[in-house]
This record gives sequence, structure tokens and C-alpha cells, in this order.
Amino acid sequence: MRFNTGREDSHSKEAFYKSQEVIPGGVNSPVRAFSSVGLTPVFALSAQGAHVTDIDGNEFIDYIGSWGPLILGHAHPEIVHTIQKVAILGTSFGLPTEIETKLARQICDSISTVDMVRMVNSGTEATMSALRLARGYTKRQKIVKFQGGYHGHADALLIKSGSGVATLGLPDSPGVPESVTADTITLPYNNLDSVRTAFEQFGDQIAAIIVEPVAGNMGVVPPLPGFLQGLRETTSRYGSLLIFDEVMTGYRVDYHGAQGLYEIEPDLTCLGKIIGGGLPVGAYGGKHQIMKQIAPAGPIYQAGTLAGNPLAMSAGYKTLQLLSESTIYDELERKSAKLAEGFEKNSLNLGVPLKVNRVGSMLTAFFSELDVMDYESAKQSNKQLFQKYYAAMLDFGILMPPSPYEVMFVSAAHSDEDIEYTIQSHYKALKKIVEK
Ligand code: PMP
Repeated sequence: MRFNTGREDSHSKEAFYKSQEVIPGGVNSPVRAFSSVGLTPVFALSAQGAHVTDIDGNEFIDYIGSWGPLILGHAHPEIVHTIQKVAILGTSFGLPTEIETKLARQICDSISTVDMVRMVNSGTEATMSALRLARGYTKRQKIVKFQGGYHGHADALLIKSGSGVATLGLPDSPGVPESVTADTITLPYNNLDSVRTAFEQFGDQIAAIIVEPVAGNMGVVPPLPGFLQGLRETTSRYGSLLIFDEVMTGYRVDYHGAQGLYEIEPDLTCLGKIIGGGLPVGAYGGKHQIMKQIAPAGPIYQAGTLAGNPLAMSAGYKTLQLLSESTIYDELERKSAKLAEGFEKNSLNLGVPLKVNRVGSMLTAFFSELDVMDYESAKQSNKQLFQKYYAAMLDFGILMPPSPYEVMFVSAAHSDEDIEYTIQSHYKALKKIVEK
């Protein structure tokens, strides 16, 4: 491995300079700009397995994993082969194809609350459409989301969001009409009392609660025992729908989703990331009764020129097949636990306060003495320390999401040596920043 040599005068720097002339901020999604760690973005050239090579020839152990989709690692040979085979037959038809049904069937068979599923092109579209469906179905306007929860960039949901919005410190975005967010009630995550109070006041107007069953966009924040159950009970009592945004957690924390892991049954489920095998995708699904309200079966409109794209469907189908046939989740658990324990041990040995939150192969190490259980506590983590730590890790060849509010994703392609090396680098990086 060659690590991060020549960053001062790097091709990445030059590429970033050029990209900023023609792309806002030089990137097509904000966090990729590396602004919250004050560094030049790593411009990717290629990747294989758990390793990414940049345009300077530096090789990194990658924990971004395209922000979640690549649970099997980069350029998995069987997935690449599938995409090649399908591409030769045509990349898009605007006609139904059988592979759409195959992936839909695979999703319905693995996520027990999903009887029917509609494919879209991104997680944003999935949540936006699920909300429209919830509002149309219940004939109510208001929705509940949680602070630090990110559900894509649709207007109604871009309020007190996590992910890039948290990173950039934007409370809301200009351009989002107040009339749209007026119907969005935002509550603290993991706080059932506030949910009950909101329902006492507005219960008969609330179409749905949308929630990340494991929050992943303020860093990993697991649901406290009883939280998801409480959401289920409250929504059922008031005739509102419970929407699980499993864009990140679906097929990540468990083959049956976070809902399978915690045994909670939402009314609607949003998916994305893994179900596209690294190609652009999203989906939303639920019970027949609700899903049959969508056009052309029902009156609620939602459509997409490239929705159900054969390349994305095939890559996703192959991915789910490989996931269903293997013991990958046990292995992911073992490797991720090893990583988390290594980090915790290093922090104890060096006296650096660190809270490691982890569910399966989703992990965030917060520089904090407090338990992190909501957006407020996540924000207490030390950003300056993270910045220094991030730069040191990158120098050792460890590529993590460049923000303290994001998730490290472990993939099936990470070897024990990769994990071991990462733990050693973590120790050296912490040592470096405390000695400064
Ligand atoms: N929901 C969740 C939970 C997500 O993590 C994301 C993206 N990280 C989205 C929705 C939006 O997905 P996309 O970026 O594909 O629009």
C-alpha cells in the first residue's frame, strides 16, 4: 500500500480546483467536499474490495463504502459481471422488465412488512414519495421527524436534518418554503415523551412519523429500548402511519432490516443504497392496502423515467442474492465488534474520551465523554479533535467519512488485516493528537 504521499501538490488538489469552476463547491453532494475536516477531497480513480485508489496513486482502506451501498466491497466481481451482461442488452427501455419483479419479489420476501414495493432512483425520492402516500392515504397533512434525522433533501424533510446539513451547520435551507415545513413537527430522537405530547396536541392531523430506526446521519445513534415500540403504539393509537427510513439500515444491520432486528412492524419502509448494489436506486414499500393507492393502481401520483433501471435492478438483485446465501452478517458483526473494541481500548489506554456507537457494521466514534443518544448529545462531540484525528488517519491510509456526524461502514471485503491495521493507525493517530 502507498499512503497519501504528496498531498500538498496533489492531482486531487488540481482536480478540485477545476471542479469548483463548473460544479457548485466542486462536488455533487456536499459532504464530499471534505470541508468539515478542512482538507482537499480525495478524488477517486478506482477501487477494489475494501481499498480505494485516488488519482495520485494513494491507496486507502475505505470505510465510506459509497456511504453505505457497498456492503460487499467495491467492484465485487459477480456484480460487475452482472452489470456488464445486462448493459449489453440495453441500459434503459421505459418498458417494464422482469428483473424489476425479481428484485421486488426478493425485497417482499425478506422484509416482512413489505407486500408491494415501488422502485425509484434515490433515497430522497423514496422518502418523499412515502410521505405523499402517507398523506394521501390518511388524508392528513402533518408529519413528524426527528432532530438529526436525515431523509434526503425533499423540502418537507429538510428541517433540523443530520448528514451534510449537520456538517455544514445549516439549520434549514434557504429555498424551502415555510408553508411546506409548517406541517413538519420535529422532535428529539429517543424521546417518547415528546412524541406523546405532540400526538396529544396534533394526533388527528398527523399523517406519519418518519424515523431512521437506527439513526445514521448524526453519527450512529441506536434506538433506546422501547423507543421504536413506543412509536409503533402511538401511531397505531392515532391512526397515523409509521414510516421506517431504512435507506441506510435496510440489508445493512440485518438481512431483514432494522425492523427485523428490533421486531417492529412499520406501515411503510423506505429503502435505497444496498438494494442498488452501488447503482442509483431507491424504493418504498408496505402493505397491499396502502401501496395500491399509488398510480396507476390508485390515485396517488408518482413516476420515474429511469425508475426500475435494469442495471440498478440487476446489481441490487445480485447483491441481495449474495447477502441471502452467506454468513456475511455474522462476519460483519465479528469484524465490526473487533474494530469498536480496538477503538475503545486505544481511547482508554491514551485517556482520550471516546464514545463508540455501533449497530452491526455501522459505527461512529464520537469524541465525547457523554453517551450519545440524540442530536444534542451528538453535537457535543469535539469537532476540533475529530479534524486532527481525521487528517492523521488519512495520512495512515484510512479513509473515513469526512465528518464527525457520519457512519463508518465495514464491508464483507474488509480483511482481518485491514481491521488490525486500522486499530493500530487509530492508536497512532490518537497519540499524535494528544501529544500536540
Ligand atoms: N434516508 C437516509 C436514512 C439516508 O441515509 C439517506 C442518504 N444518506 C437518504 C435518505 C437519502 O438518500 P439519497 O442520498 O439516495 O437521496
